[in-house]
Amino acid sequence: MQRKKIKGKGIVRGVGFRPFVYRCARDLSLSGYVRNTTDGVDIEVQGATESVARFLRELRLKKPPAARIDSVLAETVPLRNAKSFDIKVSGLSKGFTQISPDIATCTDCLAEMYDSCDRRFHFPFINCTNCGPRYSIIQKTPYDRQRTTMRSFTMCSDCAHEFKSVSDRRFHAQPDCCSICGPVFELRTIDKKKVRNVEPITETARLLKRGKIIAIKGIGGFHIACDATNSQVVRRLREFKHRPTKPLAIMAAVQDIDTIAFMNRDEENIFAAPVAPILLLAKKKSVICEEVAPNNPYLGIMVPYAPVHHLLLSHIPFLVMTSANIQDEPLVKEDEEVIEKLATIVSHYLTHNRRIENRCDDSIGFYLDGKGFSILRRSRGYVPTPVSLPRDVVPTLAVGPYLKNTFTLAHKRDAYISPHIGDLDNLETLAFFNEMIAKYERWFRIKPELIVHDLHPDYLSTKVAQDIPGRKVAVQHHMAHIVSCLGEHQVYDDVIGIAFDGTGYGIDGKIWGAE
Ligand SMILES: [Zn+2]
Ligand SMILES: [Zn+2]
Repeated sequence: MQRKKIKGKGIVRGVGFRPFVYRCARDLSLSGYVRNTTDGVDIEVQGATESVARFLRELRLKKPPAARIDSVLAETVPLRNAKSFDIKVSGLSKGFTQISPDIATCTDCLAEMYDSCDRRFHFPFINCTNCGPRYSIIQKTPYDRQRTTMRSFTMCSDCAHEFKSVSDRRFHAQPDCCSICGPVFELRTIDKKKVRNVEPITETARLLKRGKIIAIKGIGGFHIACDATNSQVVRRLREFKHRPTKPLAIMAAVQDIDTIAFMNRDEENIFAAPVAPILLLAKKKSVICEEVAPNNPYLGIMVPYAPVHHLLLSHIPFLVMTSANIQDEPLVKEDEEVIEKLATIVSHYLTHNRRIENRCDDSIGFYLDGKGFSILRRSRGYVPTPVSLPRDVVPTLAVGPYLKNTFTLAHKRDAYISPHIGDLDNLETLAFFNEMIAKYERWFRIKPELIVHDLHPDYLSTKVAQDIPGRKVAVQHHMAHIVSCLGEHQVYDDVIGIAFDGTGYGIDGKIWGAE
């Protein structure tokens, strides 16, 4: 007989961790409790020594797919007289809890969504403790329904019952809802008229097949969608986006990707993971029109990651799904922005009434043989999960570069990298940049003392940095690349670094750079 007190650190809130712990303990006949804490989870278990050891193993091996455990500390404590295993309610405390990223729809939810006998048959907001929106709907921490944009939807009795049942896979699934009590989709023409007497998602698919270009509200913002096999319509979209050659992202079901691109087992696994990023794959000669990625051997492909995407793709297999924005402005997330900014390109918009609180672009990367997934853009599915630093840092804000900006807010060993912000050369992007810095400071309770910026005196990010109180450090652009590379690979030796990355402001005030 043994009792262990276990402290786990990581992302455990909003990802079904406590019910998982409960089921593990129950199956192994252990007593004790589980409770969320500010930075993770506290567990005490008591039972046969062998079962306690097995419990500790299962904690790591069988944890829910979206949970992230950074460290587990277990110590033996005196036995207690208790028979049951309880989930304890965690009170609000002064600390903060990590926020889970948005998670692609899980296979259990998909099975229900396609089951004509299930009460969520074809329900485009289906989610559970293992999947669904998180980061994009959170308004305040700690994460629970009342502090998300789901607060305006009152659960029906069936959903409330699931939410309260420990054995249910929707136990404490904060965005839990159904067609009775949840958000709804509607299709509108660009002059705001609601398209009536049709099922909005099916009608959207029908219009896309007929060559329409439509804005579709998803998880972190809108996409502009069109048929990826229709040259004429893709060309029109390119002209609007002022992107003559840059590849446009495609969305396709994983079983259809084989017909348009070369995909190995590892790449297939990346698609199946909760992040569901855009992956660059070598293209095959296929139905995808050349205009999607002209003179480019690769296609940027993502799999459906929200229920609405799955439903759309069941009608039309290959969609161009490009971020809805003008040039380098932030992703559009409100209906009004669609009307104001996209009226010359989209004929309709498919929207819903679950507000997107935090916009978030799709993440992009590629698979490197032997090295795994290499990230080009770290956004949806990752943010705001912190990157662990090898040593403690003082509260620091690194405002990031001018182009393809992300900033980082760090304290101790956690570095919170922002979502993809964009090019800092217009007011909209600057507003988004400032909004996210304020939110990050609030969520993660970090008041920066050290402000790091690019050496270039004229960058907007430098100007912003200079207005923030605190000690400033200017870093030369290419040097920053090399140092981040050293950090990533934890190299502490003297090195000679070579950064091939366009131009930057040199330490002698001249232009430095190489391609
Ligand atoms: Zn699910
Ligand atoms: Zn309901």
